[in-house]
Amino acid sequence: MKKDINGKTKIIGVIGKNIENSLSPLIHNQIILKYSLNFRYMPFQITETDLGKAIQGIKGLNIKGVNITFPYKEKVIEFLDEVEESARRIGAVNTIVNNKGILTGYNTDVFGFKKSLQEDGKFAIKKKKTVIFGAGGAARGVIYALLEEGIEEICIFNRTLEKAKKIKQDFSSFFPRSCINAFSLEEENLKDKIKKAHLLVNTTSLGMPPKIDDAPLQNQNLFHSNLLVYDLIYYPAKTLFLRRAERAGAKTINGLPMLVYQGIESFYLWTGFKPEGKEILEIIERSA
Ligand code: NAP
Repeated sequence: MKKDINGKTKIIGVIGKNIENSLSPLIHNQIILKYSLNFRYMPFQITETDLGKAIQGIKGLNIKGVNITFPYKEKVIEFLDEVEESARRIGAVNTIVNNKGILTGYNTDVFGFKKSLQEDGKFAIKKKKTVIFGAGGAARGVIYALLEEGIEEICIFNRTLEKAKKIKQDFSSFFPRSCINAFSLEEENLKDKIKKAHLLVNTTSLGMPPKIDDAPLQNQNLFHSNLLVYDLIYYPAKTLFLRRAERAGAKTINGLPMLVYQGIESFYLWTGFKPEGKEILEIIERSA
């Protein structure tokens, strides 16, 4: 078993801002260990001013590839040589592959979100109504996934209204029959939209450290028992958003299954090796 680092070891990793609590290194290094692969997965904590230099460094150090996480999924695109078609449409990249010095961006969040929603959330997307909090890089992947699967209505609520409107504008051209509405977080329509919704998704960073006492929805009376409430955050495992939803009798799901499934797709792009998602999820749930 190749447990030791040697001259043939290939490096993969994750680039992000607050990644001390990221479970990606655990997930990928567990896969590497389980299947005796000669790779190592490293965390790279980078400031925004260093993002361009870090991406160039992937070429310079012949790193095989990286995940891109909060908050650089959109910003990173300008530093890439190529962007795969669906990632270009989404406008967000969470995986970079280095193929002989050519850096190509992909989005595996779409796959991860869809699989977790269907398999772990037991949620049939078609003809459902949803409320999404947030309009950043992760929101773009989530909304794209829902549109691909025929969701009936998407209402985006975001602090910066312009970003929600931009998603509506960008995605309406790819999905001309879609019904996307953009609102600011303070919008009074929120109550009515949640009442009619089947799915509520937090794609904001509210609830992750250091904002663990925060949540995108302040009025906890708006949760109801017909909702599936999904928080993309996985650390802490139960955010304030999910705890409030549970108290109202709603079914909940956190971001861990999505993280594992998107990670497995990324791993496949770097190594050509695809582990079984459920098996890895169980290992991570036991060891996280
Ligand atoms: P991002 O592009 O930086 O977007 C952040 C979003 O949060 C924006 O909509 C932003 O609103 C909102 N936000 C931030 N601070 C806020 C505040 N104080 N009040 C209201 N809204 C606020 O980040 P991202 O890449 O989309 O990631 C967002 C979250 O999803 C992170 O917690 C990340 O860890 C998680 N995530 C999880 C997975 C997974 O696999 N489980 C995958 C992807 C992302 P503005 O537009 O107004 O700035």
